[in-house]
Amino acid sequence: MDPLSLLRGVLDTTEDAARALVGRERIRLAVTGLSRAGKTVFLTSLIANLIAAGRGARTLPALSDATGGRIRRVFVVPAGTETVPRFDPEAHLGALAADPPRWPERTEDFSTLSIAIDVERRTSLGGLLPERRLTLNLIDYPGEWLLDLPMLRQDYATWSAETLARCRRGVRATAAAGFLAFLDALPADAPAEDALAKRGYTLYRDALRACRDAHGLRFLQPGRFLNPGPRGEAPLLWFFPLPEGARGGLADLCARRYAAYLDDQRSTFLDPYFSRFHRQVVLVDVLGALHAGEEAFRDTGDALSAVAAIVSGANWLERLLGAAPTRVAFAATKADHVPTRARDALAALVEHIAFGARGRAAQSGASVSCHAVAAIRCTEDAVARLDGQAVAAVRGVLLQDGRGATIYPGEVPMKPPEPDFWDAGLFSMPEFRPPRLDPAGSSGMPHLGLDALLAWLIGDLL
Ligand code: GDP
Repeated sequence: MDPLSLLRGVLDTTEDAARALVGRERIRLAVTGLSRAGKTVFLTSLIANLIAAGRGARTLPALSDATGGRIRRVFVVPAGTETVPRFDPEAHLGALAADPPRWPERTEDFSTLSIAIDVERRTSLGGLLPERRLTLNLIDYPGEWLLDLPMLRQDYATWSAETLARCRRGVRATAAAGFLAFLDALPADAPAEDALAKRGYTLYRDALRACRDAHGLRFLQPGRFLNPGPRGEAPLLWFFPLPEGARGGLADLCARRYAAYLDDQRSTFLDPYFSRFHRQVVLVDVLGALHAGEEAFRDTGDALSAVAAIVSGANWLERLLGAAPTRVAFAATKADHVPTRARDALAALVEHIAFGARGRAAQSGASVSCHAVAAIRCTEDAVARLDGQAVAAVRGVLLQDGRGATIYPGEVPMKPPEPDFWDAGLFSMPEFRPPRLDPAGSSGMPHLGLDALLAWLIGDLL
């Protein structure tokens, strides 16, 4: 049988799936990531490994242990009448099961998927009870939208002042040159003309795109300017930050649209979805940021700490939205890009940049945790030689040409590095080829730390 038909069998022809019995107990787990963090791969590996765990494989040992080994069956719930796009497990798992395996195509927007998990139950005397069926609702949303959360605490003037100060610094000033020149030529009392508003919006949006694509920056607001979602680029988005002192009709129009944008994000995303998430994981490619240089690294850190300040202060979010996730994990992805001994440093680094020197212990509200994971492990530890010295490295198969390669990824600091760290030169990582998924779905995908992350996130609910 060809791999795809086998996979199809894994995904939707089980008897249970056909009956589509959805458990009454639901766990809503939201997964997001700052752009290119590895969200699609994370979700795909999560699904493959849960399915394999349901078939008795010990692919997620820490999760199995957290649940006392009671996970019995796991299957993807077939599509019903959902009104939002569905995460496409068949296509994503199919890419990994291909020969040679490919990385799944990335997802851009909002999608969901339900996984049914049957868990064994016993009486206190050890007698078997009917199994409990839980539905794990996975909600995948663009990390760009997460960066709208800090805006909820700012009025238009404060947001404008902060955003423009950032825009005028470092590489951002180059990426935003066209937008800044437009602002400089704009009279303080510019009228409320839509042609002007739209021109400013387009220039500002292009500056955000350049910051992201050419410079690896991540603190980019508002989120929908980069990822407009299913409703496209509506006039609601035609605003941009204006300098202090702007007081004409255009300033009023931008302030009104800023407020309307936040109201709209609240009513279409935060209230119906975000406030109902039980658990949330935020993925960040910290290594990628480290390799992209000082400015990209600092910017990723600023974005992460702004988000961390909001989601871990759950009391504030709860007052605002009525409810908020009760556990939030921050995970540095692609941890297989560094050798074993550097992985603890990676987890420490993500904690440091999210929560500052005092770490997560200083936080109240949502329970937070920081991790280093590789959703799909593509490398083994190896030794390379650098200037005649043996250094800890990783070895994997290159995606490009299928050759084996040993790569030294540089050192991972446990906290944001001192300026001279950047003088040593930057490292870049190649894209590794993922291992091939067994199309029968019984052995899962190799990973690093996915089980411990899941055990912390949902282990208590299973
Ligand atoms: P998204 O934009 O956040 O959905 O990112 P993807 O999940 O599509 O991942 C982007 C790319 O990062 C993939 O195509 C892989 O090359 C790489 N990647 C993601 N996760 C891992 C991982 O666990 N290990 C390795 N080595 N590479 C990964």
